Amino acid sequence: MSPSLQIGPYTVIALADGAGPFFSPRSEAFPDAGTEQWAAADRFDPGALDADGRWWLQFRAFAIRGDQGVTLVDAGIGPADSPAASWAPVPGALPASLAAAGIEPFEVDTVVLTHLHTDHVGWAVVGGEQPRPFFPNAEYLLQQAELDAIEEVNPQLRSTVIDPLRKTAQLRLLDGDTTLRGGERVFTTPGHTPGHQSVLVASGRDLVAVTGDLLVHPIQLLHPELAYAHEMDPGQARASREQVLRGRVGSTLHLATPHLTEPFITC
Ligand SMILES: [Zn+2]
Repeated sequence: MSPSLQIGPYTVIALADGAGPFFSPRSEAFPDAGTEQWAAADRFDPGALDADGRWWLQFRAFAIRGDQGVTLVDAGIGPADSPAASWAPVPGALPASLAAAGIEPFEVDTVVLTHLHTDHVGWAVVGGEQPRPFFPNAEYLLQQAELDAIEEVNPQLRSTVIDPLRKTAQLRLLDGDTTLRGGERVFTTPGHTPGHQSVLVASGRDLVAVTGDLLVHPIQLLHPELAYAHEMDPGQARASREQVLRGRVGSTLHLATPHLTEPFITC
């Protein structure tokens, strides 16, 4: 059974795609983190540290099933020949995780791509030389600001992801915060990349934020001010992180993150 969270009419389902060590020492990934901060992070999330002292991270996507259909947030690391293959533990297991959750790829009507990093778009388009969108009936949502910055973010993804989605008319570019048909709210959380976006679902007092890379390690949950070395604009990333983590007065915020050990964390 895939871990899930029920919030009013929405079921948010965590979909495992893989797990593996980060490609550089964690002290380089978070150069400002101190010994006490690392110790607190390791107590909070022991699974984020492997026996060799490496940062061990999960790679997952989330499905949001509501009355109106299925929205997928992010598309994981992808198959063996995906653009993430140079560093991530491909092949990913997302197709099996979708099947275990009872979701067929054709049922997914919306795919929100939080940003253009290879471990978030892996299953968006598959097929190598003959690329095709893995979700044949889905509209893929990306911020215009992210596409505008593709040369700085990852130019390779223009031919492997963007062009194939354009060819089948499945790419929809967003200009800022957008409410989807099913009531999910896509909101901009720039900094990690210029057009980074997250997804919020709300019911009663409960909020679920599917965060993408707004935070990538538990140390940033305990210390949101800590910069991650792969943030394009660390100041903006920090502001986005602090704004989301502050939540709203009187509500309970649940985070759904791709990379932390537990798929759901209630703040
Ligand atoms: Zn990223």
